[in-house]
Amino acid sequence: MRALAPGTCFLRCSPDNRLPQPVQLPPALGYHLLVAYVGRLAPSPTGLLHLGHAATFWTAYTRARAHRGTLLFRNEDLDPQRSRPAFVDAMLEDLAWLGIAWQPPMISQSQRLPAYRAAFARLLESGAIYPCTCSRKDLARMMHAPHDEDDEPLYDGRCRTAISAGAPPFHPSANYRFPVPDGETVRFLDGNLGAQAVTAGSDFGDFLVWRKPVPGDPHPGGLPSYQLACVVDDTAMGVTEVVRGADLLKSAARQILLQRVLGLPAVDYFHTALLRDEHGVRLAKRHDALALRILREQGLTPADVRARFHP
Ligand SMILES: [Zn+2]
Repeated sequence: MRALAPGTCFLRCSPDNRLPQPVQLPPALGYHLLVAYVGRLAPSPTGLLHLGHAATFWTAYTRARAHRGTLLFRNEDLDPQRSRPAFVDAMLEDLAWLGIAWQPPMISQSQRLPAYRAAFARLLESGAIYPCTCSRKDLARMMHAPHDEDDEPLYDGRCRTAISAGAPPFHPSANYRFPVPDGETVRFLDGNLGAQAVTAGSDFGDFLVWRKPVPGDPHPGGLPSYQLACVVDDTAMGVTEVVRGADLLKSAARQILLQRVLGLPAVDYFHTALLRDEHGVRLAKRHDALALRILREQGLTPADVRARFHP
């Protein structure tokens, strides 16, 4: 018999659907049969997919398949300056060529602005975020402090005082940040990388939740940050496990905090190690010969490409 510990996430995670006591399952009835696994592929159409991206998406596909789950496709096209419809077509074609199947329809973030605005309004009304009016110059200065190149720089909290006076009025020309509980260690079990402990205020700081519109922006009300759009969409799509690259490991802690204040269900995480070339450069940072379609044009088969995921 296999025992499920108290606190195990059952179906969808929320405080009231965790198992109250250990449950014994016969071996024939695996845990995963009880859990409707929903994963997602969430590429950004800002360039051609590379070997590094493809390795992560392949992992997402194989995990969904191993769990007899559903894999959804989310087009993260919120960057109006960098997203291109041609790249959406290319990523759909490249992933299908590689052998990855998903459940249509594709969900595009650019079509979901009302959902993000509603979450933003809830955060604003509850006083859970504050306007940040720091100039680009101020932020650039903070960027010079040592920080992980993959991660949002640690914000020094200089606009945080705005929150002490209660819910701030909406400030259309401000960015909005989430004040992190300084010193709190956010813990989660990553399915690939094991137990994680990420401390708010030192490992990451007050992060962006909403970006003000930039001149020429087609979205005059501004746009959600990656963190906000991700938790809103993962909930709406019923995602149970997030598979993505380890460059987003600390973002899991940010997203856990956002889910907590928004009352959204927690999800499981599986962060994949980042592929590097022979010089130690991350493949996802290289915009050259490792694009899937270049490899394909060179005559590589999908199986040849997949063989390069685990050298
Ligand atoms: Zn600020």
